[in-house]
Amino acid sequence: MSRLYNSRKRIIVTGGAGFLGSHLIDRLLDKDHEVICIDNFFTGTKKNVEHLLTHPRFELIRHDITFPLYIEADEIYNLACPASPIHYQHDPVQTTKTSVHGAINMLGLAKRLKCRILQASTSEVYGDPSIHPQTEDYWGNVNPIGRRSCYDEGKRCAETLFFDYHRQHSLEIKVARIFNTYGPRMHPADGRVVSNFIVQALKGEPITLYGDGNQTRSFCYVDDLIDGLIRLMESPADVTGPINLGNPIEFTMRELAELVLSKTGSSSSIVMQPLPQDDPRQRKPDIRLAQERLAWSPKIPLHEGLNPTIDYFRSNWIKTSH
Ligand code: NAD
Ligand code: UDP
Ligand code: UDP
Repeated sequence: MSRLYNSRKRIIVTGGAGFLGSHLIDRLLDKDHEVICIDNFFTGTKKNVEHLLTHPRFELIRHDITFPLYIEADEIYNLACPASPIHYQHDPVQTTKTSVHGAINMLGLAKRLKCRILQASTSEVYGDPSIHPQTEDYWGNVNPIGRRSCYDEGKRCAETLFFDYHRQHSLEIKVARIFNTYGPRMHPADGRVVSNFIVQALKGEPITLYGDGNQTRSFCYVDDLIDGLIRLMESPADVTGPINLGNPIEFTMRELAELVLSKTGSSSSIVMQPLPQDDPRQRKPDIRLAQERLAWSPKIPLHEGLNPTIDYFRSNWIKTSH
Protein backbone atom coordinates (compact mmCIF):
# COMPACT_ATOMS: atom_id res chain seq x y z
CA MET A 1 0.00 0.00 0.00
CA SER A 2 1.35 3.45 -0.74
CA ARG A 3 0.96 6.06 1.97
CA LEU A 4 2.37 9.53 2.35
CA TYR A 5 5.65 9.72 4.25
CA ASN A 6 5.09 10.20 7.96
CA SER A 7 1.35 9.61 7.76
CA ARG A 8 -0.41 7.10 10.00
CA LYS A 9 0.59 3.52 9.28
CA ARG A 10 -1.25 0.24 9.72
CA ILE A 11 1.16 -2.00 11.57
CA ILE A 12 0.98 -5.75 12.23
CA VAL A 13 2.48 -7.00 15.49
CA THR A 14 2.64 -10.79 15.72
CA GLY A 15 2.88 -12.04 19.29
CA GLY A 16 1.18 -8.78 20.28
CA ALA A 17 -0.56 -10.27 23.31
CA GLY A 18 2.78 -11.23 24.84
CA PHE A 19 5.10 -9.34 27.15
CA LEU A 20 7.12 -7.33 24.60
CA GLY A 21 4.40 -7.23 21.93
CA SER A 22 1.83 -5.59 24.20
CA HIS A 23 4.29 -2.86 25.23
CA LEU A 24 5.22 -2.31 21.58
CA ILE A 25 1.54 -1.93 20.67
CA ASP A 26 0.99 0.63 23.44
CA ARG A 27 3.87 2.68 22.06
CA LEU A 28 2.75 2.41 18.41
CA LEU A 29 -0.78 3.51 19.30
CA ASP A 30 0.71 6.45 21.24
CA LYS A 31 2.52 7.36 18.02
CA ASP A 32 -0.90 7.53 16.30
CA HIS A 33 -0.58 4.36 14.20
CA GLU A 34 -3.20 1.67 13.61
CA VAL A 35 -2.21 -1.72 15.02
CA ILE A 36 -3.33 -5.24 14.17
CA CYS A 37 -2.33 -7.70 16.87
CA ILE A 38 -1.93 -11.29 15.71
CA ASP A 39 -1.66 -13.90 18.46
CA ASN A 40 -2.65 -17.50 19.16
CA PHE A 41 -2.49 -16.92 22.95
CA PHE A 42 -0.04 -19.78 23.43
CA THR A 43 1.95 -17.84 26.03
CA GLY A 44 0.36 -14.42 25.70
CA THR A 45 -2.93 -13.38 27.22
CA LYS A 46 -5.84 -11.10 26.37
CA LYS A 47 -5.23 -9.45 29.75
CA ASN A 48 -2.09 -7.82 28.27
CA VAL A 49 -4.18 -6.00 25.64
CA GLU A 50 -7.46 -5.80 27.56
CA HIS A 51 -7.06 -2.04 27.99
CA LEU A 52 -6.95 -1.67 24.19
CA LEU A 53 -9.97 -3.75 23.19
CA THR A 54 -12.19 -0.71 22.66
CA HIS A 55 -9.42 1.45 21.17
CA PRO A 56 -10.53 2.67 17.71
CA ARG A 57 -7.09 2.06 16.13
CA PHE A 58 -6.58 -1.42 17.61
CA GLU A 59 -7.63 -4.79 16.21
CA LEU A 60 -7.04 -8.24 17.73
CA ILE A 61 -6.93 -11.39 15.58
CA ARG A 62 -6.53 -14.91 17.00
CA HIS A 63 -4.24 -16.62 14.51
CA ASP A 64 -1.30 -19.04 14.51
CA ILE A 65 1.44 -17.66 12.22
CA THR A 66 2.51 -21.15 11.17
CA PHE A 67 -0.54 -20.82 8.85
CA PRO A 68 -0.76 -18.28 6.01
CA LEU A 69 -2.24 -14.87 6.70
CA TYR A 70 -3.74 -12.60 4.07
CA ILE A 71 -4.33 -9.06 5.36
CA GLU A 72 -3.11 -5.58 4.36
CA ALA A 73 -0.61 -3.45 6.27
CA ASP A 74 2.36 -1.09 5.91
CA GLU A 75 4.80 -2.68 8.37
CA ILE A 76 5.23 -5.97 10.24
CA TYR A 77 6.90 -6.61 13.59
CA ASN A 78 7.33 -10.39 13.91
CA LEU A 79 7.49 -11.17 17.64
CA ALA A 80 5.39 -14.34 17.81
CA CYS A 81 7.34 -17.12 19.54
CA PRO A 82 7.41 -18.49 23.06
CA ALA A 83 10.46 -16.91 24.66
CA SER A 84 11.18 -18.53 27.99
CA PRO A 85 12.86 -21.95 28.25
CA ILE A 86 9.86 -23.48 30.11
CA HIS A 87 7.47 -22.27 27.43
CA TYR A 88 9.53 -23.05 24.33
CA GLN A 89 10.49 -26.51 25.60
CA HIS A 90 6.85 -27.39 26.34
CA ASP A 91 6.17 -28.11 22.64
CA PRO A 92 9.58 -27.87 20.94
CA VAL A 93 8.33 -28.90 17.49
CA GLN A 94 5.75 -26.10 17.54
CA THR A 95 8.51 -23.70 18.68
CA THR A 96 10.61 -24.46 15.60
CA LYS A 97 7.52 -24.30 13.38
CA THR A 98 6.64 -20.89 14.78
CA SER A 99 10.14 -19.57 14.08
CA VAL A 100 10.56 -21.17 10.67
CA HIS A 101 7.10 -21.62 9.08
CA GLY A 102 5.98 -18.46 10.87
CA ALA A 103 8.90 -16.49 9.39
CA ILE A 104 8.19 -17.86 5.90
CA ASN A 105 4.54 -16.83 6.12
CA MET A 106 5.28 -13.37 7.49
CA LEU A 107 8.05 -12.86 4.91
CA GLY A 108 5.65 -14.01 2.16
CA LEU A 109 3.11 -11.50 3.47
CA ALA A 110 5.73 -8.71 3.52
CA LYS A 111 6.83 -9.66 0.00
CA ARG A 112 3.27 -9.40 -1.34
CA LEU A 113 2.71 -6.10 0.48
CA LYS A 114 6.22 -4.79 -0.37
CA CYS A 115 6.51 -3.65 3.23
CA ARG A 116 9.20 -3.58 5.89
CA ILE A 117 9.43 -6.46 8.31
CA LEU A 118 11.28 -6.66 11.60
CA GLN A 119 12.30 -9.92 13.25
CA ALA A 120 12.57 -10.31 17.02
CA SER A 121 15.68 -12.48 17.09
CA THR A 122 17.60 -13.24 20.22
CA SER A 123 20.97 -13.35 21.95
CA GLU A 124 20.37 -17.13 22.03
CA VAL A 125 21.69 -17.26 18.45
CA TYR A 126 25.12 -16.85 20.11
CA GLY A 127 24.49 -19.98 22.23
CA ASP A 128 27.04 -20.38 25.01
CA PRO A 129 29.36 -17.72 23.63
CA SER A 130 33.12 -18.08 23.51
CA ILE A 131 33.65 -14.34 23.01
CA HIS A 132 32.57 -11.71 25.47
CA PRO A 133 30.80 -9.32 25.07
CA GLN A 134 29.01 -10.58 21.97
CA THR A 135 29.34 -8.56 18.77
CA GLU A 136 27.01 -9.08 15.82
CA ASP A 137 29.75 -10.64 13.68
CA TYR A 138 30.23 -13.51 16.15
CA TRP A 139 28.69 -16.68 14.66
CA GLY A 140 27.84 -18.34 17.92
CA ASN A 141 28.38 -21.59 19.76
CA VAL A 142 25.07 -23.45 19.55
CA ASN A 143 24.23 -27.08 20.29
CA PRO A 144 22.01 -28.24 17.37
CA ILE A 145 20.42 -31.15 19.27
CA GLY A 146 19.93 -29.96 22.85
CA ARG A 147 16.84 -28.84 24.73
CA ARG A 148 17.37 -25.18 23.82
CA SER A 149 17.95 -25.99 20.13
CA CYS A 150 14.30 -25.72 19.05
CA TYR A 151 14.49 -22.07 20.02
CA ASP A 152 18.13 -21.26 19.18
CA GLU A 153 18.23 -23.03 15.82
CA GLY A 154 14.67 -21.92 14.97
CA LYS A 155 15.70 -18.30 15.50
CA ARG A 156 18.94 -18.81 13.55
CA CYS A 157 16.99 -20.27 10.62
CA ALA A 158 14.55 -17.34 10.79
CA GLU A 159 17.51 -14.95 10.48
CA THR A 160 18.70 -16.92 7.43
CA LEU A 161 15.25 -16.64 5.86
CA PHE A 162 15.14 -12.89 6.51
CA PHE A 163 18.49 -12.37 4.79
CA ASP A 164 17.59 -14.65 1.87
CA TYR A 165 14.29 -12.78 1.28
CA HIS A 166 16.33 -9.58 1.45
CA ARG A 167 18.91 -10.79 -1.10
CA GLN A 168 16.54 -12.76 -3.34
CA HIS A 169 13.41 -10.57 -3.23
CA SER A 170 14.87 -7.17 -2.20
CA LEU A 171 12.69 -7.15 0.88
CA GLU A 172 13.41 -4.42 3.45
CA ILE A 173 14.32 -6.33 6.60
CA LYS A 174 15.34 -5.46 10.15
CA VAL A 175 16.76 -8.09 12.49
CA ALA A 176 17.04 -7.26 16.21
CA ARG A 177 18.98 -9.59 18.51
CA ILE A 178 17.24 -9.01 21.80
CA PHE A 179 19.03 -9.73 25.08
CA ASN A 180 17.26 -10.52 28.39
CA THR A 181 14.48 -8.01 28.90
CA TYR A 182 12.24 -7.59 31.94
CA GLY A 183 9.35 -5.46 33.12
CA PRO A 184 5.61 -5.45 33.87
CA ARG A 185 3.54 -8.12 32.02
CA MET A 186 6.23 -10.79 32.15
CA HIS A 187 4.42 -14.03 32.83
CA PRO A 188 4.79 -15.00 36.52
CA ALA A 189 5.17 -18.70 35.68
CA ASP A 190 7.51 -18.44 32.71
CA GLY A 191 10.48 -19.55 34.83
CA ARG A 192 12.64 -16.59 33.84
CA VAL A 193 15.00 -15.44 36.48
CA VAL A 194 13.62 -11.93 37.11
CA SER A 195 9.99 -13.06 37.42
CA ASN A 196 10.93 -16.16 39.45
CA PHE A 197 13.00 -14.21 41.97
CA ILE A 198 10.40 -11.45 42.39
CA VAL A 199 7.47 -13.84 42.82
CA GLN A 200 9.45 -16.02 45.24
CA ALA A 201 10.56 -12.98 47.25
CA LEU A 202 7.05 -11.53 47.43
CA LYS A 203 5.58 -14.86 48.53
CA GLY A 204 8.34 -15.39 51.10
CA GLU A 205 9.37 -18.61 49.33
CA PRO A 206 13.02 -19.65 48.85
CA ILE A 207 14.85 -17.96 45.96
CA THR A 208 16.01 -20.68 43.55
CA LEU A 209 19.56 -19.94 42.44
CA TYR A 210 20.74 -22.35 39.74
CA GLY A 211 24.33 -23.58 39.57
CA ASP A 212 26.83 -21.58 41.61
CA GLY A 213 24.99 -18.32 40.90
CA ASN A 214 28.10 -16.80 39.28
CA GLN A 215 26.72 -17.01 35.72
CA THR A 216 25.97 -13.55 34.35
CA ARG A 217 23.19 -11.90 32.38
CA SER A 218 22.52 -8.28 31.48
CA PHE A 219 18.95 -7.06 31.90
CA CYS A 220 17.23 -4.45 29.76
CA TYR A 221 14.11 -2.67 30.96
CA VAL A 222 11.20 -3.14 28.56
CA ASP A 223 10.69 0.59 27.78
CA ASP A 224 14.30 0.88 26.59
CA LEU A 225 13.98 -2.23 24.45
CA ILE A 226 10.77 -1.03 22.75
CA ASP A 227 12.45 2.29 22.00
CA GLY A 228 15.26 0.33 20.28
CA LEU A 229 12.85 -1.80 18.23
CA ILE A 230 10.98 1.25 16.93
CA ARG A 231 14.22 3.09 16.13
CA LEU A 232 15.38 0.06 14.19
CA MET A 233 12.13 -0.20 12.23
CA GLU A 234 12.34 3.52 11.38
CA SER A 235 16.05 3.44 10.45
CA PRO A 236 17.33 3.89 6.86
CA ALA A 237 16.84 0.94 4.51
CA ASP A 238 20.51 -0.06 4.59
CA VAL A 239 20.29 -0.78 8.32
CA THR A 240 19.22 -4.41 8.14
CA GLY A 241 20.94 -5.66 11.28
CA PRO A 242 21.44 -8.05 12.85
CA ILE A 243 21.78 -5.54 15.61
CA ASN A 244 22.10 -6.22 19.33
CA LEU A 245 19.55 -4.59 21.62
CA GLY A 246 20.11 -5.03 25.32
CA ASN A 247 21.63 -3.49 28.40
CA PRO A 248 25.39 -4.11 28.61
CA ILE A 249 25.57 -3.84 32.39
CA GLU A 250 26.27 -7.33 33.66
CA PHE A 251 25.12 -8.96 36.90
CA THR A 252 25.67 -12.38 38.40
CA MET A 253 22.48 -14.25 39.29
CA ARG A 254 23.54 -14.09 42.93
CA GLU A 255 23.75 -10.28 42.75
CA LEU A 256 20.28 -10.21 41.17
CA ALA A 257 18.88 -12.42 43.95
CA GLU A 258 20.34 -10.09 46.58
CA LEU A 259 19.00 -6.98 44.84
CA VAL A 260 15.49 -8.44 44.60
CA LEU A 261 15.60 -9.45 48.27
CA SER A 262 16.61 -5.97 49.37
CA LYS A 263 14.06 -4.19 47.13
CA THR A 264 11.15 -6.34 48.23
CA GLY A 265 12.25 -6.35 51.88
CA SER A 266 11.74 -10.10 51.79
CA SER A 267 13.22 -12.54 54.27
CA SER A 268 13.25 -15.42 51.75
CA SER A 269 16.29 -17.69 51.88
CA ILE A 270 18.44 -18.50 48.82
CA VAL A 271 18.52 -22.19 47.83
CA MET A 272 20.94 -23.66 45.32
CA GLN A 273 19.55 -25.86 42.51
CA PRO A 274 21.23 -27.64 39.57
CA LEU A 275 22.11 -25.61 36.50
CA PRO A 276 19.84 -26.45 33.51
CA GLN A 277 21.38 -28.09 30.41
CA ASP A 278 23.22 -25.73 28.01
CA ASP A 279 22.75 -22.77 30.37
CA PRO A 280 25.11 -20.06 29.03
CA ARG A 281 27.77 -19.01 31.58
CA GLN A 282 27.78 -15.38 30.62
CA ARG A 283 25.97 -13.07 28.28
CA LYS A 284 26.41 -9.38 27.58
CA PRO A 285 25.70 -7.43 24.40
CA ASP A 286 28.17 -5.22 22.60
CA ILE A 287 25.80 -2.39 21.62
CA ARG A 288 28.19 -0.15 19.66
CA LEU A 289 26.31 -0.82 16.43
CA ALA A 290 22.97 0.24 17.95
CA GLN A 291 24.63 3.32 19.42
CA GLU A 292 26.13 4.27 16.05
CA ARG A 293 23.29 3.38 13.67
CA LEU A 294 20.22 4.01 15.86
CA ALA A 295 21.61 6.53 18.39
CA TRP A 296 20.18 4.12 20.97
CA SER A 297 21.38 3.02 24.35
CA PRO A 298 19.40 1.87 27.37
CA LYS A 299 18.64 4.52 29.98
CA ILE A 300 16.99 2.66 32.85
CA PRO A 301 19.31 0.86 35.28
CA LEU A 302 18.28 -2.45 36.87
CA HIS A 303 17.71 -0.98 40.34
CA GLU A 304 15.19 1.47 38.81
CA GLY A 305 13.42 -0.87 36.39
CA LEU A 306 12.88 -3.44 39.11
CA ASN A 307 10.53 -1.05 40.99
CA PRO A 308 7.62 -1.00 38.47
CA THR A 309 8.23 -4.69 37.80
CA ILE A 310 7.92 -5.60 41.49
CA ASP A 311 4.82 -3.35 41.76
CA TYR A 312 3.26 -5.16 38.79
CA PHE A 313 3.74 -8.60 40.32
CA ARG A 314 2.60 -7.40 43.74
CA SER A 315 -0.66 -5.92 42.46
CA ASN A 316 -1.50 -8.38 39.66
CA TRP A 317 -0.37 -11.76 40.90
CA ILE A 318 0.38 -11.82 44.57
CA LYS A 319 -2.82 -10.24 45.96
CA THR A 320 -5.10 -12.23 43.66
CA SER A 321 -3.36 -15.58 44.16
CA HIS A 322 -3.87 -15.47 47.93
P1 NAD B 1 5.91 -13.89 25.15
O1 NAD B 1 5.84 -15.37 25.29
O2 NAD B 1 5.36 -13.05 26.25
O3 NAD B 1 5.24 -13.43 23.79
C1 NAD B 1 5.21 -14.20 22.64
C2 NAD B 1 3.82 -14.11 22.04
O4 NAD B 1 3.77 -14.87 20.83
C3 NAD B 1 2.72 -14.67 22.96
O5 NAD B 1 1.67 -13.73 23.06
C4 NAD B 1 2.30 -15.95 22.26
O6 NAD B 1 0.96 -16.30 22.53
C5 NAD B 1 2.55 -15.61 20.80
N1 NAD B 1 2.76 -16.76 19.93
C6 NAD B 1 3.56 -17.84 20.15
N2 NAD B 1 3.50 -18.68 19.10
C7 NAD B 1 2.64 -18.12 18.20
C8 NAD B 1 2.16 -18.52 16.93
N3 NAD B 1 2.56 -19.66 16.36
N4 NAD B 1 1.29 -17.71 16.29
C9 NAD B 1 0.87 -16.56 16.86
N5 NAD B 1 1.28 -16.14 18.06
C10 NAD B 1 2.16 -16.92 18.72
O7 NAD B 1 7.45 -13.54 24.90
P2 NAD B 1 8.18 -12.12 24.81
O8 NAD B 1 9.16 -12.09 25.91
O9 NAD B 1 7.21 -11.02 24.66
O10 NAD B 1 9.01 -12.31 23.46
C11 NAD B 1 8.59 -11.74 22.23
C12 NAD B 1 9.63 -12.01 21.16
O11 NAD B 1 10.88 -11.45 21.53
C13 NAD B 1 9.87 -13.50 20.92
O12 NAD B 1 10.03 -13.72 19.54
C14 NAD B 1 11.15 -13.77 21.65
O13 NAD B 1 11.86 -14.83 21.06
C15 NAD B 1 11.88 -12.44 21.51
N6 NAD B 1 12.85 -12.25 22.59
C16 NAD B 1 12.44 -11.92 23.86
C17 NAD B 1 13.37 -11.76 24.87
C18 NAD B 1 12.99 -11.38 26.27
O14 NAD B 1 13.87 -11.24 27.12
N7 NAD B 1 11.73 -11.17 26.59
C19 NAD B 1 14.75 -11.94 24.58
C20 NAD B 1 15.13 -12.30 23.30
C21 NAD B 1 14.17 -12.43 22.30
N1 UDP C 1 1.88 -15.91 2.48
C1 UDP C 1 1.00 -15.40 3.42
N2 UDP C 1 0.38 -14.20 3.14
C2 UDP C 1 0.60 -13.52 2.00
C3 UDP C 1 1.52 -14.05 1.06
C4 UDP C 1 2.15 -15.24 1.34
O1 UDP C 1 0.77 -15.98 4.46
O2 UDP C 1 0.00 -12.44 1.84
C5 UDP C 1 2.56 -17.17 2.80
C6 UDP C 1 2.23 -18.25 1.80
O3 UDP C 1 1.51 -19.26 2.49
C7 UDP C 1 3.55 -18.78 1.32
C8 UDP C 1 4.60 -18.09 2.21
O4 UDP C 1 3.94 -16.96 2.71
O5 UDP C 1 3.66 -20.16 1.56
C9 UDP C 1 5.82 -17.66 1.42
O6 UDP C 1 5.42 -16.81 0.38
P1 UDP C 1 6.32 -16.64 -0.90
O7 UDP C 1 5.60 -15.72 -1.83
O8 UDP C 1 7.68 -16.26 -0.52
O9 UDP C 1 6.45 -18.11 -1.45
P2 UDP C 1 5.52 -18.99 -2.37
O10 UDP C 1 4.11 -18.50 -2.23
O11 UDP C 1 6.08 -18.78 -3.71
O12 UDP C 1 5.75 -20.35 -1.81
N1 UDP D 1 18.03 -18.85 36.89
C1 UDP D 1 18.15 -19.04 38.25
N2 UDP D 1 17.02 -19.24 38.97
C2 UDP D 1 15.78 -19.25 38.42
C3 UDP D 1 15.66 -19.05 37.03
C4 UDP D 1 16.81 -18.86 36.29
O1 UDP D 1 19.26 -19.02 38.81
O2 UDP D 1 14.79 -19.43 39.16
C5 UDP D 1 19.24 -18.61 36.08
C6 UDP D 1 19.38 -19.48 34.86
O3 UDP D 1 20.03 -20.71 35.17
C7 UDP D 1 20.21 -18.60 33.95
C8 UDP D 1 19.80 -17.18 34.32
O4 UDP D 1 19.17 -17.29 35.60
O5 UDP D 1 21.58 -18.76 34.23
C9 UDP D 1 18.83 -16.56 33.33
O6 UDP D 1 17.78 -17.47 33.09
P1 UDP D 1 16.51 -17.12 32.21
O7 UDP D 1 15.74 -18.38 32.03
O8 UDP D 1 15.81 -15.96 32.81
O9 UDP D 1 17.11 -16.60 30.84
P2 UDP D 1 18.17 -17.18 29.79
O10 UDP D 1 18.87 -18.37 30.35
O11 UDP D 1 17.37 -17.50 28.58
O12 UDP D 1 19.08 -16.03 29.61
